Amino acid sequence: MEFTATLLSLVWGALIGSFMNVVVLRLPRSEDIVFERSGCPKCKGKISWYDNIPIFSFAFLLGKCRNCQQKISWQYPLFEIWHALLAVYIFSSWITFSNSQWLEAISAFFIASIFSAHILIDLRHQLLLDKLNLALVPFVLVIVAINESWFDAGVGAVIGFGFPLLITWIFYLLRGQIGLGGGDIKLFGILGLLFGVKGVLINLFSSCMLGSLITIVLMISGRVKRDQYIPFGPYILITALIQLLFPDIFAQWQNFLIPY
Ligand SMILES: [Zn+2]
Repeated sequence: MEFTATLLSLVWGALIGSFMNVVVLRLPRSEDIVFERSGCPKCKGKISWYDNIPIFSFAFLLGKCRNCQQKISWQYPLFEIWHALLAVYIFSSWITFSNSQWLEAISAFFIASIFSAHILIDLRHQLLLDKLNLALVPFVLVIVAINESWFDAGVGAVIGFGFPLLITWIFYLLRGQIGLGGGDIKLFGILGLLFGVKGVLINLFSSCMLGSLITIVLMISGRVKRDQYIPFGPYILITALIQLLFPDIFAQWQNFLIPY
């Protein structure tokens, strides 16, 4: 990609990342995400526009609030940098795809961005918010429309939603406990729409495997207890991010699991 395009992608990514920081902070508390001016979460002081420039302001202020001098979380600049990298990666690798390449790239970028916000909120609040699940739908539909994969997407959505629901229901009948939350099940439905039947089944299998592996490691190292609640959403979403961003790597994994 040429220099100007790379620079524009970086700026675009950092700006959206800055907005998504606000989403991660305010959406779980049902606060306004568009019209309310940014304030320091510690002293509640309003932040001027020049102290609110993605990545740079954090560096200029040496990571401290101008008003109260308390530390600003590293999460803010890191999330902005992550979005800037996402933008450069997605816009540079999608451009050769098809005539609707820009529309597809922008949709993929927003899907990756919403996945990322979903991960942070689930880790902090153990919540997969309906609003974020819903926000994914229009971008996913754009990609389905461009690829004209309506049938696979439709069946994928039904299986993605129905299969985890069935497992959860059987688990509930046997153990009297809820296995997967409603947010997880809805997310699987949307992933079915995005990745189709095979894609969502592979995600289900891979995220269970990833989750089990990491949970066993955390239990052995004594960082979580046996009966502690562990959010499952991040594993689904990390798997989905790899599926979205590295389709070639995932296709190899898929062929290894389902070789027909
Ligand atoms: Zn402050």
